[in-house]
Amino acid sequence: VLLNLRGIENHCARVSSRRWLNLQEYQSKKLMQESGVTVQRFYVADNPPDALQAAKRLNAKEIVLKAQILAGGRGKGVFNSGLKGGVHLTKDPSVVGELASKMLGYSLTTKQTPKEGVEVKTVMVAEALDITRETYFAILMDRACNGPVMVGSPQGGMDIEEVADKSPELIFKEVIDIFEGVRDDQALRMAANLGFKGPLERQAADQIKRLYDLFLKVDATQVEVNPLGETPEGQVVCFDAKISFDDNAEFRQKAVFAMGDMSESDPTETEAAKWDLKYIGLDGNIACFVNGAGLAMATCDIIDLHGGKPANFLDLGGGVKEKQVYEAFKLLTADPKVEAILVNIFGGIVNCAIIANGITKACRELELKVPLVVRLEGGYCTGGATPTALHPYLPSV
Ligand code: ADP
Ligand code: MG
Repeated sequence: VLLNLRGIENHCARVSSRRWLNLQEYQSKKLMQESGVTVQRFYVADNPPDALQAAKRLNAKEIVLKAQILAGGRGKGVFNSGLKGGVHLTKDPSVVGELASKMLGYSLTTKQTPKEGVEVKTVMVAEALDITRETYFAILMDRACNGPVMVGSPQGGMDIEEVADKSPELIFKEVIDIFEGVRDDQALRMAANLGFKGPLERQAADQIKRLYDLFLKVDATQVEVNPLGETPEGQVVCFDAKISFDDNAEFRQKAVFAMGDMSESDPTETEAAKWDLKYIGLDGNIACFVNGAGLAMATCDIIDLHGGKPANFLDLGGGVKEKQVYEAFKLLTADPKVEAILVNIFGGIVNCAIIANGITKACRELELKVPLVVRLEGGYCTGGATPTALHPYLPSV
């Protein structure tokens, strides 16, 4: 869990969007509102005049303007417009348009983004509240616990990574029984560990339970609130929100996935997903064309062992069609880093003829300019995976 926690705000946008669907803060907060979680009032804008209008409409004592990108650490980030800070507080609504004009259309670099930053297309204009204390709270799926676990710290806010590093005793966890859900005593204990006192303890426990309900309802793999803060008026408020969703639940979370914005994802990975190919770009120069994640990993390792560097991880999977083979080749050859292609196919889960036909077609049409090394091994039975080890006499193709 500690490792996870360190990873939590550390995940750069690219890495996390690779694994799971992530939503922008404002989208996550909409889901939170619907689950009765306390968030501040807000509007969303994609141009400075709208941001200005939103600030006036909020009619709040203080306003917070927040750049929306799929990465944390915005508070301490920098724009290529020169503006410092992806989160700005102001008491004067009339400056919001000007501030927004230095955010929208510019790239924001934080310690969780790639060096060149991520372009800001939307800003959130929200009512600011005084925060007397910032805590950290998250619910995530944890392999070590075989289920969800709550993680919290009374010292949340922008330096949570440092807390996890230097004062691990200030990180508390509570393993949740998936059948029982969050018990009252667990929610109260977490609230107390987060440092909420008196009536705030019950209020925080109530927020924790609502966040868990949301976690289940939307098939999240992670709901992270940093900071979960308290105000001088005695309110427990979720000031920031990051939710990741289980891609396997897409079929029953249509509304959530429809909000997904792929523009911050790697375009090649998005294109590959369209063809049901599992593709992850890497830094090397040898493209791998493999079926089965295990074989793909082993192939990457072998390339590495022999001093090469894989340019990607591509898993064709079983039951692949000729068209997918063709598209996969198109993706690999479009990558200028690729200086050679290694095909390593296990015929136990696919008919090698499909692969061979797809490759020859692709080579003719795409005018392949780099060397191609092909290994197709093993036979094919319709009954599913048939390891060659069990059928030593099946022909190699
Ligand atoms: P990030 O985690 O990307 O840096 P946050 O949303 O956590 O962005 O904002 C950074 C900091 O800005 C918070 O830790 C908090 O101190 C302050 N902040 C954020 N939202 C508000 C708000 N509504 N009112 C007052 N302060 C806020
Ligand atoms: Mg935060």
